Amino acid sequence: MKLSEKQFEQVIRQMKRAKAFKGNLYEKKYADIDIDSIKTQEDFEKIPFTEKDELRSVYPLGIQAVPDSEIVRIHSSSGTTGTPIIIPYTKKDVEDWAIQFCRCYETAGITKEDRIHITPGYGLWTAGIGFQAGCERLGAMAIPMGPGNTDKQIKMMIDLKSTVLCATSSYALLLAEEIEKRGVRNQIHLKKGVIGSERWGDTMRKRIANELGVELFDIYGLTEIYGPGIGINCTKDAPMHIWDDYIYLEIIDPKTGKVLPDGENGEIVITTLVKEGAPLIRYRTHDLSRIIPEKCSCGMTYPRIDRIIGRSDDMVKVKGVNIYPGQIEDVLKHIEGVSSEYQVMIDHMNGKDIMTLFFEMDLGYSKKALEDAVGAEFKTKVGLTIVPMGVAIGELPRSEKKSRRIFDNRY
Ligand code: ZN
Repeated sequence: MKLSEKQFEQVIRQMKRAKAFKGNLYEKKYADIDIDSIKTQEDFEKIPFTEKDELRSVYPLGIQAVPDSEIVRIHSSSGTTGTPIIIPYTKKDVEDWAIQFCRCYETAGITKEDRIHITPGYGLWTAGIGFQAGCERLGAMAIPMGPGNTDKQIKMMIDLKSTVLCATSSYALLLAEEIEKRGVRNQIHLKKGVIGSERWGDTMRKRIANELGVELFDIYGLTEIYGPGIGINCTKDAPMHIWDDYIYLEIIDPKTGKVLPDGENGEIVITTLVKEGAPLIRYRTHDLSRIIPEKCSCGMTYPRIDRIIGRSDDMVKVKGVNIYPGQIEDVLKHIEGVSSEYQVMIDHMNGKDIMTLFFEMDLGYSKKALEDAVGAEFKTKVGLTIVPMGVAIGELPRSEKKSRRIFDNRY
């Protein structure tokens, strides 16, 4: 994807402003870069990436690029892996985010007649508030549930006739299973599900869609860049449209950092175009996807990326083979009787790496036969011999937050 003339001007303006702001991360980072000498796409692609660790290293407000008086809100990444990242927003940033989120709802065919049941968390994390602000801008009724308390979720869903469910895929699945268990499916009015951008497979997608009776949409975003809402898929096709009037997106080889041609899988790198509070230039998201070169049949010209296939940090190397969560999903979805839920344990025993793949299965099938099938399919598709272990449906942990499925116990 090439920078348009307008995007190029916007990028240069963002870089200059960030570099000039005293104490900003880019003041030091770009000290030796003459921004006026950046004239072409090739020049732009030589600018160093911005890494998550750099944002951590300037905690709390070292990525702020406007005076304190212009900041109206902050959000923070969850910080499960150490120091959190704080993102300051100006009034315009908050509005821009709501505009993008509203556009997401509209792209999914959601209107002001809808009742939007919002289960992502409110607070420091960007999720809940983003879903809410976009909903209010659209003019639909927001039902601001936040996560947890399944009884209340289902009661409100029935009593208020929620038509849209916003959730992570694992929480949507949990709710679908609870609704099924309670036999209240015919009292549920959901039509659409807007599901957060974690990678989730087709089997899980089908289960949620069938059990809840909804059309599902993938919404994309990350706290560092506004939050969820910078892209969503349309009613015509699975890849997500990305709002390129707010962000510029590149796909790079995560190992070499080279920009890849459209259509090739790699890591998403994002540059904000109009962000005031915390501009980010060439920010490495660690999400893996690809740019779809073809135009969408819906007629919108916003560029598209494929569904997220994994995280470059989730990639594990076992006996010299690179394994992505997306590959595991792909193996499981082709075997009848096997569900989408899985967990991987990687251990080092007697001088050898051993990968055990736990998967949920329908107990109506033979455990031995399914394990053999999973093992053989994995060997063929991924090129690795594993220990397959079938367990009953519901046995593996579900969580309301993004589930962790690969556990590397070797180090
Ligand atoms: Zn489309």
